[in-house]
Amino acid sequence: MKTRSVFVCQECGYRSLKWLGKCPSCGAWGALVEEIERTDRNEKPPNAAIQPVLLDSLEQAPVERLRTGIEEFDRVMGGGIVPGSVIVIGGDPGVGKSTLMLQLCARLSERCPLYVTGEESLEQLRYRADRLGIERRGIAVLAEQAVEDVAATIEASQPGVVVVDSIQTLYGRELESLPGSIGQVRYCAAQLVQIAKRTGIPMLLVGHVTKEGMLAGPKVLEHMVDVVVQFEGEGNYAYRILRAIKNRYGSTNEIGVFEMSEHGLIEVRNPSALFLSDRSTPAAGTAVAAVAEGSRALLVEIQSLVMQSGYGVSQRVTTGFDYKRLQMLLAVLERRLGLDFLHSDVFVNVAGGFVVRDPGADVSVCAALVGALRNRAIQERVVAIGEVGLTGELRQVAAMDIRLNEAAKLGFEAAVVPALLSIAGVGIELRPATHLSEALGLLGL
Ligand SMILES: [Zn+2]
Repeated sequence: MKTRSVFVCQECGYRSLKWLGKCPSCGAWGALVEEIERTDRNEKPPNAAIQPVLLDSLEQAPVERLRTGIEEFDRVMGGGIVPGSVIVIGGDPGVGKSTLMLQLCARLSERCPLYVTGEESLEQLRYRADRLGIERRGIAVLAEQAVEDVAATIEASQPGVVVVDSIQTLYGRELESLPGSIGQVRYCAAQLVQIAKRTGIPMLLVGHVTKEGMLAGPKVLEHMVDVVVQFEGEGNYAYRILRAIKNRYGSTNEIGVFEMSEHGLIEVRNPSALFLSDRSTPAAGTAVAAVAEGSRALLVEIQSLVMQSGYGVSQRVTTGFDYKRLQMLLAVLERRLGLDFLHSDVFVNVAGGFVVRDPGADVSVCAALVGALRNRAIQERVVAIGEVGLTGELRQVAAMDIRLNEAAKLGFEAAVVPALLSIAGVGIELRPATHLSEALGLLGL
């Protein structure tokens, strides 16, 4: 098979034998990406008719998933790793992707995992394993960056699972571009995908999310692989969240929660305890929200501070909550409830560093704001759930039963919820409200 490398414009498909900064055809800048092209197309065998099969004649073969025993990981995968699947683990450098992969290999040591490292030397890898207290037995390691050699090693040694750390360090010998460039990342991933599909060996590809966004990282691989997960962590907090972005074999709503310790990542089975401070008596300006994440709910504490601003424009500062959403809620509180935040600095913080993206937390954010404004605490052991609309009406949100169950499990006695909710047997008193003003009253504000 004869091949040559060509540079193809990603915008218009223009082909060039050398790299160009600007596409001569469409004028796009930096759009030419290196690809490998076959030059012996004419030697192709003549077309042949192939017998198609009837759809209803196909029987579904039961898929035996590979369970890692790390439940927070397996759940995000959709119940374990599917044979022959290719999974990209994306995230900022230093968030703990390599640690997670090493721990995963240790759990799968009976399957003869192969850990390919292009980031660290073998010596560094051994040191890290020892520091984390990871059992090294059974894990094969390879410090290699040429994808052809990695592929040959996989074919020869037939490991049960392969980790490539990271896909950005691999390169194909036939390509001129540097490791980490879009052309190289795509080419190397394609080689590994082929092996995975042919042999059934699952592959986990670590992909760094670069400062320029997702350039040459997980994003360019999304359409080629089966699963893309994102490993997230907030600044100085110890917790990490594994979130599915694409999953051909499961839901993308699931999250896995871990805590980073000196002995590596520890699974967090009860995330609410992590994000909920000790609330024997609620402080003024705080409220608990029950947010939904996939098949489970998390309780998080919303904290607010409202203080008279000095001269000039008053400030609005949020941590873990959308700034525009806060402005909208403040507008509703001012226009519909007649409260005055105009001459105040407003701070909203989600305790524990969690990022709330769920509109179901709206009522709790409003309760925290009003509590802070009036210096009043909400009732003990009461949680609030609901989206707030522009007229101040309370709106239903998804997964109400899961949220209520989690609140009941953590000892909450009542929940202020949007009216017309009919859920039985959740073990918590429901206090329905149609409007935000009513909800705040039911919370004791
Ligand atoms: Zn072009």
